[in-house]
Amino acid sequence: MKETRSRGRFAPSPTGPLHFGSLVAAVGSFLDARRSGGEWLLRMEDLDRPRCRDGAANDILRTLEAFGFEWDGEVIWQGRRGTAYSNALERLRAAGRVFGCACTRRELADSALAPDGASVYPGTCRLGLPPGRGRRADRLRVGQALIAFDDAVQGRLVQNLAEEAGDFVLLRADGLFAYQLAVVVDDGEQGITRVVRGADLLDSTPRQILLQQLLNLPTPTYAHLPVAIDAAGEKLSKQSCAEPLDPARPISSLLAALCFLGQEPPAELAEASLGDFWRWATAHWELARVPRRRLLPAPE
Ligand SMILES: [Zn+2]
Repeated sequence: MKETRSRGRFAPSPTGPLHFGSLVAAVGSFLDARRSGGEWLLRMEDLDRPRCRDGAANDILRTLEAFGFEWDGEVIWQGRRGTAYSNALERLRAAGRVFGCACTRRELADSALAPDGASVYPGTCRLGLPPGRGRRADRLRVGQALIAFDDAVQGRLVQNLAEEAGDFVLLRADGLFAYQLAVVVDDGEQGITRVVRGADLLDSTPRQILLQQLLNLPTPTYAHLPVAIDAAGEKLSKQSCAEPLDPARPISSLLAALCFLGQEPPAELAEASLGDFWRWATAHWELARVPRRRLLPAPE
């Protein structure tokens, strides 16, 4: 049997320029792929059109090039893949796993919250739409699903999906396919074997694994990289970590990302060329050094 080459990916959302947090995910996934001689694919997660900004995707691609990233194959654009998501949704529907939901956000406001802040669906429409109400969204019938997986950085995670996520949305009330469905379909079709991304997506992984199982797709291995948090445990998103990167000074940002990921680059790498930087980083990358959490001092 032919051995499958490992394949990783970076999947930014073009909601703004590449910032430090997304650079960390790019560096981690790129080095993880290259260290094992695998491929690294690029996917633009431009599904949520209202949140995307004009020109941001091209800006991200130019910045990645300026930082010396090289990706394999064509860039995949989620915004052009509606047919693939629709086909997956219909397969789940044919298997009896999809139901229409009439609930508004306001009606769900009292529900318990999932770890990612979404409401845990109380099951209102699971056995059929309430009389006189129309379908707004499609949800997955989760059933009794206990999902466990071993994350290469964060360790073992076990989630009871019925209690911690509930029947989650596949097709949103605004007509857009849900992120969870799109990611699973794309990872499956692109043959991704290793998902290396920020730990802010750790809690959605069990939902994605359930969808992989229901769609007969293989489950990749996962490594969730630390996100920067301040002393109060708040994610640093709008402060220093969200500032756009300077494409004219790639090495200092790349070194900062490498240090953030627990690697120990020598000081002289600050004077290196991009080619030398990537040669050193690829040869010395060790996933085992990546910390589970990263505490940063609050910005002034
Ligand atoms: Zn409902």
